[in-house]
Amino acid sequence: MPVGPVDQRESFPRNGTPGRGRSTGTRVRLPTPDSPVVAPPAQDANTFLARLPLTASLLFAIASVLWVMLTDILVELLSSSPDQLAMVQTFKGIAFTLVSAALLYGLLRQATQRTLNQQARAQQNSERLGIALAATKSGVWEWHFPSRTFYLSAHLTDLTGTGRGAAYTWADVLERIHPDDRAQFGNVISQALQEPEQEHSAQYRVMREDGTTAWFEVRGRLLTDADGEPMRVAGVAIDISHTKEKDWRIERLTHFDSLTGLPNRAQFMRILEGRIEQRNGSDTFLLVVRLDISRFQDINNMMGARTGDEVLTIIGHRLEDVCGQTGLVSRFAGDDFALAVSSIDSLEAAQELAGALSQILHAPIELHGKTLSVSIVMGAAIAPSDGGDAETLIANAEMALVRARRDGAPLGFYEVGMNETFRERAFIEQELSAALRNGGLSLVYQPIVRADDQGLIGFEALSRWSHPKLGVVPPSTFIPLAESTGLIADLGSYVLRTACAQAASWNSALRRSLLVAVNVSARQMESDCFVDEVARVLAETGLAPECLELEVTESLIMEDPEAISGRLQRLRDLGVQVAIDDFGTGYSSLAVLKHLPVSKLKIDRSFVQDLNASQGGDAIVAAILELAHSMGLTVTAEGVETPKQLEFLRQRRCQTVQGYLIGRPLPPEALGAYINGSATSLPPR
Ligand code: C2E
Ligand code: CA
Ligand code: CA
Repeated sequence: MPVGPVDQRESFPRNGTPGRGRSTGTRVRLPTPDSPVVAPPAQDANTFLARLPLTASLLFAIASVLWVMLTDILVELLSSSPDQLAMVQTFKGIAFTLVSAALLYGLLRQATQRTLNQQARAQQNSERLGIALAATKSGVWEWHFPSRTFYLSAHLTDLTGTGRGAAYTWADVLERIHPDDRAQFGNVISQALQEPEQEHSAQYRVMREDGTTAWFEVRGRLLTDADGEPMRVAGVAIDISHTKEKDWRIERLTHFDSLTGLPNRAQFMRILEGRIEQRNGSDTFLLVVRLDISRFQDINNMMGARTGDEVLTIIGHRLEDVCGQTGLVSRFAGDDFALAVSSIDSLEAAQELAGALSQILHAPIELHGKTLSVSIVMGAAIAPSDGGDAETLIANAEMALVRARRDGAPLGFYEVGMNETFRERAFIEQELSAALRNGGLSLVYQPIVRADDQGLIGFEALSRWSHPKLGVVPPSTFIPLAESTGLIADLGSYVLRTACAQAASWNSALRRSLLVAVNVSARQMESDCFVDEVARVLAETGLAPECLELEVTESLIMEDPEAISGRLQRLRDLGVQVAIDDFGTGYSSLAVLKHLPVSKLKIDRSFVQDLNASQGGDAIVAAILELAHSMGLTVTAEGVETPKQLEFLRQRRCQTVQGYLIGRPLPPEALGAYINGSATSLPPR
């Protein structure tokens, strides 16, 4: 007798229910699917008998016995005739019959009552089972070997959306199972046959008649007949759709980015590891790219976070489109994406692909009727040469990205030897970022005075970073680093706010209008939000705009004179002064400078140091001063160290000077007496 799910196509008549196949004699009695909740057919005779009082029948039997005894006494007393005796005998007969009938009835009634009690109990049990099944969203199922039919309880047919029927063929039920789960359908039955002692379970998706899909956990165990022959596998099927849905949500949250729907970092790394393993042994190449959007914060600040989100989603989709079938794209965080493309034929093809990606990604984005141009920086590493595992490849691609960003290039490739420099830089970057958060940065102020009477007109604010292990790190080291890592935005904001607040506090305490000169880096100037930030800081610190001088380097202006000029004009409109720092070193075109809305030139200290030392040095400074005068600009000479240098500058009508001769940069607390006029010179450093 075949007992297992032998052939998925086989079909059996629907007339047999599992219970009818053969006397089961099984150890466990399964509740039959539909009967428990339905009362058995009415048994009128039994019910009628049951309702007759038992005491009545007993009384009747006792009365009959008394009647027999009474007739015997009467016969004795009345010394009756044979006819009378015959009559008495007849009465006796009737009485015995009645006694027997009463006793028989009593027995019958007792038996009937027991049956009724059993039925009532069964009904109660079945009702309780029904409640339990409904509450746990489960139903009973059974695969009956002799008839090769499935038997599903009413609860189960309701839950699975299968039309109610007495029995189903293998094919009937299989048809309801999701195609992806069909291969393992029947596992519970075959496992139950292999390990009869245990309960087995599996999870399947069931396709309901209304088109929806539900998840079921199917549990079952083998049941045998009295001879130990396998008769059926039966158990429960529980609707676990709700749990699955929760699991699925958790899965999405833990593995995917909620904004773009792309795999998150952890998921990307897992998949990438798999791809690297697949690649091993083949002669193909795998390209790994890290990329981020330059100045994404500006998009967020100017157009709102929602637009920022849309841009990120568009970039994510673009990446997916470009990478195609063999690509894997992830958003690690914010505007930080990663991608991997496997099965590339040659190293050159991988490099070309990275180049093509960079170009495609730079295409402008059309959003809400506006055209946004986004600039993306990419760093690439290629396996096998640049790393044999996901972590190394990603770290190397990141190094390439940092280098590209620093060099202002849209794309950079990892190169051997980058690690060392990178590690060092990464350490300093980390420390600098911590310093910014923990107050490890401070400002010192170097006086700027009039050249003729050395009267104080203001200070230049200069950053200082003192690190517990590295010591005092000079700005020439950490400013370029902050620029290349993006930390300059926070650093610049800190400097601007602190310097303005300090100057405002001095000015209000002394009722003066001292100037504070703040150095502005190229990256700060590139930001469209910079002018707004300056206006905000002035308003918040209460510093008069004309007391703020922003120093921008000549080379910065020459990067994009037109764009910078527009921004400088807006700053001038606020009332802020603008000085060209390190003048003379940037080979700027005079034609350009003439049209810039600047108020001051600062002669670089290298020229000042050449004064009196060489003929050429004197000539250059003299020429700069003349040019500045002709353009109506004020001049500050930096790095004045000797009285001779000061004298030369004074004679050529240089208005203001700054340098060790007048004073070194000092922390604000060391400047108190000098500022309020009670000390004529600064304390030596
Ligand atoms: P800078 O703007 O040209 O600042 C003047 C530099 O010359 C300062 O160096 C100052 O200490 C130094 N100095 C002043 N007088 C003399 C002198 O008589 N002789 C000599 N040999 N040096 C003198 P420091 O503070 O090391 O700053 C170096 C550069 O770092 C600054 O050059 C500036 O470009 C940059 N920097 C400093 N602080 C900041 C900041 O907060 N933001 C930005 N973006 N750049 C900053
Ligand atoms: Ca400066
Ligand atoms: Ca300078």
